[in-house]
Amino acid sequence: MNHDPGKKPHSVCVYCASSGVADPIHRQVARRLGGLLAQAGCTIIYGGGKAGSMGALADGALEHDGRVIGVIPKFMLELEWGHRGISELHEVEDMRTRKHGMLTRASAVVALAGGCGTFEELMEAITLKRLGIYLGPVIIVNTGGYYDPLLEQFARSIRERFMDERHGQMWQVVAEPEEVVPALEAAPGWDERSIEFAALHGPR
Ligand code: AMP
Repeated sequence: MNHDPGKKPHSVCVYCASSGVADPIHRQVARRLGGLLAQAGCTIIYGGGKAGSMGALADGALEHDGRVIGVIPKFMLELEWGHRGISELHEVEDMRTRKHGMLTRASAVVALAGGCGTFEELMEAITLKRLGIYLGPVIIVNTGGYYDPLLEQFARSIRERFMDERHGQMWQVVAEPEEVVPALEAAPGWDERSIEFAALHGPR
């Protein structure tokens, strides 16, 4: 699905932490974002967990009568990690299917602070966007500058020509959850032609 700048996405995939012991600001941000997306009429797609920022996100949306869809692997459900109060909880075979199921249901992606699970999900969305497979906005919520080192790594990757200058348009960075919906609406368009500059080949 092409992203249409100026239009609010109808389903937003949120990647965020399972940790319940990180600074409480991260759970507060997740809860606020859940509420804001629900109030904007966006369906939330997420990993289906009840812990940490994931649970806070879902609770924030449910408090505002939002629609929340979780996609969770069977083994996590068996460990009782799933959030049982959400609108739909889809059980899948493994982590790979979960990631695919989350991204293919979404017309936009938002990443909050998190650990390796969040990084992996964010990197996959950006990698698929570079290849013209996923085309929607990617918004990074940089709470307390948490993502500054990653953003510097991206900048270095472009400087050192592992990525093209144009790839810097694939993500937008905001500081607060209140900026997410406007950023989703304002995100620049992206289409399948990005495959034409996905690979940076020199003389062979
Ligand atoms: P992280 O950012 O490392 O906390 O990872 C978040 C991602 O890890 C989620 O999207 C899940 O893939 C997975 N995950 C790890 N722990 C849990 C949990 N307790 N409940 C649900 N998902 C979890």
